[in-house]
Amino acid sequence: MKHRAKVLLAAALCLFLLGGCSGKQAAGLDEKRTSTVFAMDTVMELTVYGPEDVLRECENIITSLEKKLSATDPGSEIYALNEKGTAQVSDETALLISDALCWCEKTSGALDISIYPVLKAWGFTADAYRVPGEEELAGLLSLVDYTGVAVEGSSVILRDGMQIDLGAVAKGYTGDRIMETLASAGIRSALVNLGGNVQVLGKKPDGSPWRVAIADPVKSGYIGYVETDGGAVITSGGYQRFFEEDGVTYHHIIDPSNGCPARSGLLSVTVIGNSGEMCDALSTALFVMGAEKAADLWRREGGFEAVLVADDGRVLVTEGLKDSYHALSGGKAAVIGRD
Ligand code: ADP
Ligand code: MG
Repeated sequence: MKHRAKVLLAAALCLFLLGGCSGKQAAGLDEKRTSTVFAMDTVMELTVYGPEDVLRECENIITSLEKKLSATDPGSEIYALNEKGTAQVSDETALLISDALCWCEKTSGALDISIYPVLKAWGFTADAYRVPGEEELAGLLSLVDYTGVAVEGSSVILRDGMQIDLGAVAKGYTGDRIMETLASAGIRSALVNLGGNVQVLGKKPDGSPWRVAIADPVKSGYIGYVETDGGAVITSGGYQRFFEEDGVTYHHIIDPSNGCPARSGLLSVTVIGNSGEMCDALSTALFVMGAEKAADLWRREGGFEAVLVADDGRVLVTEGLKDSYHALSGGKAAVIGRD
């Protein structure tokens, strides 16, 4: 009798679960829903196969993180820190700053969150573009040194005159938070594009992997695409934000070694991996470092793959992408090997 009861219970549970699934479909809870948000100075597109309220939750994550992390919003934690040189911040912000500092170290300062005073001088923070003079840059560069940022619990202390900006990692981190939220809500299929930062959850509803296209940094269109069934595909490029003066183009990714827009021979870097925060940090840093140092870092650190587009038109992909990167329009990529 006992055994029979168990069997009946199991059967009932099965029916309930099956019923739950079809009920979900019948109620349209797995429907494709999209939303466009303008935040963090860019257009963000969310595509979620799930209920409406989860999409709203994702939008709220974006707006609340922007409020906390923006360097230009007078109400943000980062703004307060930059104004006073020291501040108590939320645990989340403190952790993100600590993480970012680790990436600054791992990239030997190619990523440097204390670049903000230099970025301001170029006018990138206020769309008031200008080319700063050499002396001005030299003065500001003396304030750039990520080792002058200390995080102790939730206190952050900046060395005199220093200011920080999390622009190189904030969108990747935001994507991670969105992915966590979606996963814990039971969503199995989603893609978010946070201004060129693509992060996906699971496969497409038809069971095939997502195809994430990589923009051509020179002309409209794409150079290729990668296939993924989870994780981040994040691109940094000089073509994303720039201005021109006297026939010279100046973009928003600054080389901390000289305070000028990085000219490393690369036009764009796409980093592919599990963590959006890591891929965002690395896409900015590898762009500053150039192909050779980028390949060295990939060999040394691992845990990610990359597509590098060089200014001579070459496309280089790390070995792990051999099968998942597909060139478009007849192009062919060279493979960066382990040695
Ligand atoms: P985007 O935000 O355009 O997608 P990135 O992730 O590469 O591109 O971030 C660029 C942003 O990072 C800049 O707008 C600026 O706020 C900041 N930044 C620029 N150069 C550096 C650098 N060397 N280290 C850290 N942050 C940087
Ligand atoms: Mg970045």
